[in-house]
Amino acid sequence: MINIKTPQEIEDYRAGAGALSKMVLRRVGAMVKPGVTTLELDEVAESLIRMHGAVPAFKGYGGFPASICCSVNNQVVHGIPSAEMRLSEGDIVSVDTGATLGGWVGDNAWTFFCGEPSSEARALCEVTRDCLVAGIKQAVPGNHVGDIGAAVQELAERNGYGVLRDYVGHGVGHVMHEDPTVPNVGRRGRGVKLQVGMVIAIEPMITLGSYEVETMANGWTVVTRDHSLAAHYENTVAITEDGPVIITEDDQGPWCSMQGGVI
Ligand code: MG
Repeated sequence: MINIKTPQEIEDYRAGAGALSKMVLRRVGAMVKPGVTTLELDEVAESLIRMHGAVPAFKGYGGFPASICCSVNNQVVHGIPSAEMRLSEGDIVSVDTGATLGGWVGDNAWTFFCGEPSSEARALCEVTRDCLVAGIKQAVPGNHVGDIGAAVQELAERNGYGVLRDYVGHGVGHVMHEDPTVPNVGRRGRGVKLQVGMVIAIEPMITLGSYEVETMANGWTVVTRDHSLAAHYENTVAITEDGPVIITEDDQGPWCSMQGGVI
């Protein structure tokens, strides 16, 4: 079932859970530097979320053990923060943060550079971010989820990249995963029609190689089967009469610096 939000609900959602989720993402990105462990990123994220009277949306979700997902290099999504995972110069670090506040779930992700990435890694991240922008532009009333998927897929594949099939964007609201699913591949005009008041998480997951992935023995971390690098960018977006409204936006806007260590 697709839940429709009123304009007031959308505004409350953006000002509360959305803004907090983006602020936490920004603050974690500012910590991404060589030598930092992903567990340290998780601890800061959790304390920031709780300090604002919110609850980490991922912790305990389906049994996930941490407050953020932190996926490094060939890890695509759902990386478990760990004291053993120490960031190195040149890593690309995908951080997914979610906070529940006022009954709404904010969900957003960004891939940060740890120091100076390779030119290939930088290009992958820039194109994946542009795929997110292209997808968001399609999030208007009367379009279909297939328009979002097609926009993401066309841009990624034009650059020779792989687009994940097994993991998708999703409706979001009082719970983290609502209808509809929002694939990153598709055909224009196909799939669920977008209506005013729908809120969806658009989240391209793109690789330098094949789109095939597998789950590590920990049961969570999704890695590319060919070990190629992967990037992941996500915003929570409302469909409104005035066009897409990004819910995960703080007082600095909906976008982060890609460079780790920069607020
Ligand atoms: Mg999501």
